[in-house]
Amino acid sequence: MEDIDLEEEDNLNIAVLSGKGGTGKTTISTNLALALGAKYIDCDVEEPNGFLFLKPNIVNTEEVMVEYPVIDEDKCTDCGVCVDVCQFNALASAGNGILLFEKLCHGCGACEIVCKYGALGYGKREVGRIEKGMGHGINCSRGILNIGEPMAVPVIRSILRNLDDGLNIIDCPPGTSCNVVTSLRYADGAILVTEPTKFGLHDLERAVELVDMFSIPFGVIINKDDGRENIVKSYCKDRQIEIIGTVPYSDSIALAYSKGEMLYATQDNRALFDHLAMGLGEVLEWT
Ligand code: SF4
Ligand code: SF4
Repeated sequence: MEDIDLEEEDNLNIAVLSGKGGTGKTTISTNLALALGAKYIDCDVEEPNGFLFLKPNIVNTEEVMVEYPVIDEDKCTDCGVCVDVCQFNALASAGNGILLFEKLCHGCGACEIVCKYGALGYGKREVGRIEKGMGHGINCSRGILNIGEPMAVPVIRSILRNLDDGLNIIDCPPGTSCNVVTSLRYADGAILVTEPTKFGLHDLERAVELVDMFSIPFGVIINKDDGRENIVKSYCKDRQIEIIGTVPYSDSIALAYSKGEMLYATQDNRALFDHLAMGLGEVLEWT
């Protein structure tokens, strides 16, 4: 793994991920973004809730469009070659024409290539949107997948392809699905958020496998930590994985979360996230 040279990078993207939802990934992403003075990017497009805490005034909204094939019935001979080539079962022969299931289409273009009759063109449809604004003094962006849309990748890709220069904290989707893989493609470093439980450890192991594949520097933040030795700390020690820091189990943190408040707004928690921000720099070896 290579060190991250802040002087050399136009933009530096740190992905925050967790093996599953509900580990405090968004709490850590939003508050760390404030502590670092970074931009906050919410890529958890199926449930983007970082804005509930940062409460930005939204100044810009862009639609995310995808292409889908449109069949010219006058030219189509119903030969079925496009149906055979589609790997995603988005096309079907209906006996009296070709049926398209738009939401299954990945826009790969194979059907257009194989159609000898020039019967396939493309239309565009909206699958989500990107919102941008300022909240708590930092730039915030989020992708939102339209309800009922099965594919989040176009929205995630769209937001990450157009990141501004500087330090970006990317709040990834939960789990280790292709949505997370897409987010990691744009990351220079990663923070894995977990809890000190058996489930937390299991999900952390999967997340570690994933970031290892990308060979990017990473460290772990343990949320709801009780301050003792535990299975996550032992695992990190055995695997020589650096722990960036811990967030203690605390009623006041849970209460602030339930009210949609930023932890960084309170004196005690500000010190906690300043400490995590420092630990992040040390683990990712920013120079
Ligand atoms: S390949 Fe072209 S002509 Fe054949 S069924 Fe598909 S759209 Fe129609
Ligand atoms: S563009 Fe690709 S995924 Fe979409 S219908 Fe054509 S072959 Fe199938």
